[in-house]
Amino acid sequence: MPDPPEHLKELYHWDRTNHWHAFTQMAEYEPLVIEQADGVWMVDSHGRRLLDGASSMWCNVHGHNHPAINSAIEGQLHRVAHVTTLGMTSDTTVKLAKRLVDIVPTGLEHVFFSSDGSSANEVALKAAFQYWLQCDDPQPQKTRYLTFGQAYHGDTLGAASVGGIGKFHDLFQPLLFEVVRMPSPDSRRLPPGLAGEAAVRYFLDEVEEVLKEQADTLAAIVIEPMVQGAAGMVMQPPGFVRGLRELATRYDVLLIVDEVATGFGRTGSMFVCDAEGISPDFMTLGKGLTSGYLPMAATITTKKIWETFLGDSESGRALYHGHTFSGNPICAAAALASIDLFEEEQTLEKLPPKIERLGERLATLAEHPHVAHARQRGMIVAMDLVQDKQTGEPFPTKARVGQRVAEIALDHGVWLRPRANMTYAIPPLAISLEEIDLLMDAMTAGVQQATAAAQ
Ligand code: PLP
Repeated sequence: MPDPPEHLKELYHWDRTNHWHAFTQMAEYEPLVIEQADGVWMVDSHGRRLLDGASSMWCNVHGHNHPAINSAIEGQLHRVAHVTTLGMTSDTTVKLAKRLVDIVPTGLEHVFFSSDGSSANEVALKAAFQYWLQCDDPQPQKTRYLTFGQAYHGDTLGAASVGGIGKFHDLFQPLLFEVVRMPSPDSRRLPPGLAGEAAVRYFLDEVEEVLKEQADTLAAIVIEPMVQGAAGMVMQPPGFVRGLRELATRYDVLLIVDEVATGFGRTGSMFVCDAEGISPDFMTLGKGLTSGYLPMAATITTKKIWETFLGDSESGRALYHGHTFSGNPICAAAALASIDLFEEEQTLEKLPPKIERLGERLATLAEHPHVAHARQRGMIVAMDLVQDKQTGEPFPTKARVGQRVAEIALDHGVWLRPRANMTYAIPPLAISLEEIDLLMDAMTAGVQQATAAAQ
């Protein structure tokens, strides 16, 4: 990282000392300050143009500084910036609720807004719990959740409880509630030769074994569909979520599908639920909802669940959960503009050649002697970096190969999220084919140089 120019030394100092960054060892932190961004490009305080290879953590769909989203935000700002949803709302927020109901899978009809994905999941967890207390045939013993190893649903205590990434949450174990945790449906875990329907069946049988024993006490199954991102892009065989829906219904357990990361086109369809042809009991959305312009998330549920929350004010059936900034109108305006852009710019329709180009470039990288499990779902590409491809022996964590890949990519003008023994890219959906090549050139250089240096 170049030394900061003189006029930025103070800013960098404040960033190191006054600004506490998420998931960051501040003793090692090197400031990277973005001053401007347009399309897939960010410009840092050194004037370097950096391609946003992680979509500002899964958020950015249509590119930075898009005039349509900017002007929607400005327009709303000049009407009303914020009103509470306690007993009132804004017209823009209502329109967004209706718009979401129109685009999510049929059957999801009621939208609760919050400001981040963790909170959206908290809402789903609490509402699922409350549902079993107040449905027609109450089952108060259904208080637990079935989750998958290495899941990530956010960092608030409920979301962390259903998460399974030890490094993030082990420390807080005494504060978390107990869950039923089972191995992830990770395609890398399949016995050799098992693919397609048989692979799906293999993982569903594992789930069914648990349900047979424990469905009685389970309020809900919680899943990141198709891809467990924070786990290291752990990918499920297509069809697994469809089968999970079927099992959840059969064993009378609710299904919470966390599309905070996958929602809004990331895997090639608007939602994974669309590709899987299912409708869950709860869907949670965040990140791409406003294309990352403003913090907003949503929990969407069915008429059947919603109706159990209806009653007179003495009934105690209201959802006892809320956030000051729930349904903020400026965020809602950004979300509406972003959803409109999907139609206006044919965002999904333009994806197939981009997905194909990413796939071609990934296939070349997969040949590299230190690349294993090169994998893709839509606009996500990922690979493990291994010392020995034959045995799958990883590089030692302290070799920080993934971090080195990211550093080298940065020198090539591409920002990739540093990870220990893997590397991945999740560019904005608006990326062009030429920009995909720049991204993959930088990633390739990173993989070649970092793995050679780690020998
Ligand atoms: N769920 C998933 C699948 C996520 O990937 C994330 C964040 O990365 C969250 C929930 C938490 O969202 P937030 O960081 O907005 O709280």
